[in-house]
Amino acid sequence: MKPWLDNSRIVQGLLAHDRSVLARAITLVESTREQDRRQAEDLIELCLPHAGSSIRIGISGVPGVGKSTFIEALGQRFLQHPDAAVAVLAVDPSSPLTGGSILGDKTRMAALSAHPRAFIRPSPSSGGLGGVQRRTRETIVLCETAGFDTILVETVGVGQSEVAVASMTDCFLLLLLANAGDELQGIKRGIMELCDLIAINKADGDNAQAAEVARKQYESALHYLGRSVPVLTCSALTGHNLVGVEGQLAEFFENARKTGVFDRKRQQQSVQWMDEAVRLLIEQKAADHAGDLRQQVEQGHISPLKAARLLVS
Ligand code: GDP
Repeated sequence: MKPWLDNSRIVQGLLAHDRSVLARAITLVESTREQDRRQAEDLIELCLPHAGSSIRIGISGVPGVGKSTFIEALGQRFLQHPDAAVAVLAVDPSSPLTGGSILGDKTRMAALSAHPRAFIRPSPSSGGLGGVQRRTRETIVLCETAGFDTILVETVGVGQSEVAVASMTDCFLLLLLANAGDELQGIKRGIMELCDLIAINKADGDNAQAAEVARKQYESALHYLGRSVPVLTCSALTGHNLVGVEGQLAEFFENARKTGVFDRKRQQQSVQWMDEAVRLLIEQKAADHAGDLRQQVEQGHISPLKAARLLVS
């Protein structure tokens, strides 16, 4: 395989907004080879001073709720601003090892992927949630270094991946449908507590009225949970009230910056990032050295707890 560029050339390329360098840099951070990991760690270190100035929005919802249609439409609205540059990333820990990703698929966002100021990257296709999460965090840093000022991180509404995405974004937006049972939409109290904004999508045609009913229901459910989260209706397909969603997002960021919540969240997320990195490093090291001990545990020569302590020390 062709050797990677060296890190200083990658940084130069990123700062010059070079797309092909960005794509190669992302491939580097997605690599699991030890040598690549070390280069990737150094690269992220070099990029961090240039990163952090974007807004990061997590977008979640069950398959079929309209995430890609919504991102396609919202992304284009953002891009109406002549200086805007939008990157779309995906966190899909469920994607099969061989089949690639079901999310962030370029063919689903035709207009955005053809736009010169948009960049779409599907989810890394293996490594479990921990690995996908780490690589997405690093990819955010690379995209920001390459000049993207809006990062949209898409995830599918099936549990843990939402927590992961909320831990790497500033604002978590949940897309819901009217008339779909909460059970069906995978809504658990935890997810309601994660989100900063809810949009009931497909509020068009015959569905518009039901969407408004659902909006009120969710609003009072959230009120009951003691959260004041704006709940809107919209249609990603017709564009109905996307201006409202955009307005709420703007208001959210304005407030978050004014109150210091924005900076505090980012600080907490840096610490979370470190904690995850520690876990991954330990898991990796343990996997590298566990062979003999695994056998001993299997044969009952040593207790699992004692073996674990030995391994970590
Ligand atoms: P995803 O799986 O969440 O990414 O959902 P998609 O964006 O692929 O949308 C699933 C289906 O719903 C597609 O057929 C879309 O055209 C349709 N869809 C998405 N948004 C809307 C909307 O606002 N209104 C209507 N009527 N259909 C929509």
